[in-house]
Amino acid sequence: MRYGSTRGGVSDLSFCDAVMMGLASDGGLLVPADIPDIREQLPEMASLGYTEIANRVMGCFIDDIPAADLEALIEKSYATFDDERVTPLVPVGDMQIMELFHGPTLAFKDVALQFLGNVFEYVLARDGGQLNILGATSGDTGSAAIAGVRGKENINIFIMFPDGRTSPLQERQMTTVLDDNVQNIAIEGSFDDCQSILKGVFADLEFKDRYQLGAVNSVNWARVLAQVVYYFAAWVQLGSPKAFQVAVPTGNFGNIFAGYIARRMGLPIDKLILATNENDILHRFFTTGRYERGSVHFTYSPAMDIQVSSNFERYLYYQFGQDASRVTGFMNEFLVHGSATVNFNTVNFDDAFATGCVSDEETLNTIVATYEATGYLLDPHTAVGVHVAASRRNPELPLVCMATAHPAKFDDVIRKGLPDTDITHPALEVLKDLPARKTQLPNDQDAVKAFIADHND
Ligand SMILES: *Cc1c(COP(=O)(O)O)cnc(C)c1O
Repeated sequence: MRYGSTRGGVSDLSFCDAVMMGLASDGGLLVPADIPDIREQLPEMASLGYTEIANRVMGCFIDDIPAADLEALIEKSYATFDDERVTPLVPVGDMQIMELFHGPTLAFKDVALQFLGNVFEYVLARDGGQLNILGATSGDTGSAAIAGVRGKENINIFIMFPDGRTSPLQERQMTTVLDDNVQNIAIEGSFDDCQSILKGVFADLEFKDRYQLGAVNSVNWARVLAQVVYYFAAWVQLGSPKAFQVAVPTGNFGNIFAGYIARRMGLPIDKLILATNENDILHRFFTTGRYERGSVHFTYSPAMDIQVSSNFERYLYYQFGQDASRVTGFMNEFLVHGSATVNFNTVNFDDAFATGCVSDEETLNTIVATYEATGYLLDPHTAVGVHVAASRRNPELPLVCMATAHPAKFDDVIRKGLPDTDITHPALEVLKDLPARKTQLPNDQDAVKAFIADHND
């Protein structure tokens, strides 16, 4: 399989090239030249376990890693999960919850980042070279990135966060990782300060080249690909129905776009139910055709507090008939004017999605109502999906709701509605007694550069 950019300026990359490039060098996103249809293989897949499904599904998109090596990478990536089904399906009332949070940091990003870390290490060992990953986090995603590359050869990771402004739990999920290749940097400033340092360091191309600087953003193709697998696993665990629906709490459009790929591969997903919090750019797009930037709302589901959904460009590319110049035109218009429009009367978009957006009050009510009716505790992100699914689902078809985080990660929100409920997870309790390490640095790009240089002597 060859890969190219949605903007047309990069083409003919192998899978490993695409993974190492991350964001396409022309500013677009890397996509496979085609999406194979594997519906003929579905009957055989119906009895397979997670890693076997992963071998089949990912194997369709990877031809530059020998099959035995890919199998080993997949086994290693999911051996860190605490359930043998990796992403188990749990019946809750009249729906099925697919728990994507059995990885090391209890969030669905582990599914992708455990695999990505292993692919990075594999390619660097095979082709030579090193990687310094620099990232900024407000708390949610840093720990999954760290867990993906801790202890790996030829990789360092530097994660900046605003000192004293992430939740104590989220900070400890990062700072209790003591591997030599992991550096947590507490910046004396805000999350915005961390992000502007990040931009500044990446803008210094000489520095970026010298230290082989890389990012851990949600646009890496390997992340999307790893997520396609659990849509197939959901169908298998459901008992291979003729059709089913999936509800997905959505921010950057990475998770649900993986579902879209699975659907294009022939998996019988009737509708993908796309649920946003008050940051509803996608819901507005699918109802009006207008893709328009708003201001960020801070909500109970912080991992979905985004203005612009970075993976959306990949979807546009397929809807525009893989026409890179149209994608470029749309994205340039969006960049310049803060909005761009698709006329659904003249452009024939597929009918894969049903959408809805959810307020904080509705999120909390959904958590409480589900708990009272079934005894199952939803995290706030998952609750957003469950809420939209309730009104958008077809009651005749099985419904899978993707659960993207363990509730104990967001116990402070849940406690607002269920003050007396025990919301803990042993892996998080343990962190309270572990030694931690972080380095405080001033809000200064040069201090961060010097720190990175120091760790590369
Ligand atoms: C990242 C994240 C999401 C959003 O997923 P996207 O792929 O960005 O749409 C939802 N829930 C949790 C807990 C997350 O960490």
